[in-house]
Amino acid sequence: KNTGRGVGINPENGGVNDPKNLRVKLVLLGDSGVGKSCIVLRFVRGQFDPTSKVTVGASFLSQTIALQDSTTVKFEIWDTAGQERYAALAPLYYRGAAVAVVVYDITSPESFSKAQYWVKELQKHGSPDIVMALVGNKADLQEKREVPVQDGIDYAERNGMFFIETSAKTADNINQLFEEIAKRLPRPSPS
Ligand code: GDP
Repeated sequence: KNTGRGVGINPENGGVNDPKNLRVKLVLLGDSGVGKSCIVLRFVRGQFDPTSKVTVGASFLSQTIALQDSTTVKFEIWDTAGQERYAALAPLYYRGAAVAVVVYDITSPESFSKAQYWVKELQKHGSPDIVMALVGNKADLQEKREVPVQDGIDYAERNGMFFIETSAKTADNINQLFEEIAKRLPRPSPS
């Protein structure tokens, strides 16, 4: 059933066509300030440091995870670095992306609306078999919550996305986010 033609894992994309060791391009999208850089730093370095704003977007960070079936997935993570405003860059940014992670902040309804805008952009420019995750970040700020969990769940379901709430601050669900994405990746058939 799996053709193995998923983007990001084929030689023409510079990927490795090895079903046991996938290499995938992952793009991050979402309003500035929702915590994209913090999510990446938590995942890659295991740190939360709100004072050091690292320019993740300068190139990309990568992180490899091992799954239970002894396969590995290497994520090459692209942050927008604030360039999301330049619509002309979008096709370049999305090209070859096997995964898109759209992030909003659960305390900001504006960021949730913006996330929906990015999902529509992905549906226009992204690969048809891109794996999309919707992430409600800053879940540690329950008392300031303005976006109900159910709104995230419903929107994700309507758009064929995986949904999760995370906290880069407490590390809640950060590893789970990437593990769940890894499980959903199309696998090339062994050659
Ligand atoms: P980006 O612009 O989307 O990359 O956002 P940043 O990663 O730079 O984070 C923006 C701000 O939100 C920083 O002040 C972070 O400290 C804060 N932040 C990020 N993630 C969390 C989180 O999970 N919980 C809380 N409470 N603050 C967060």
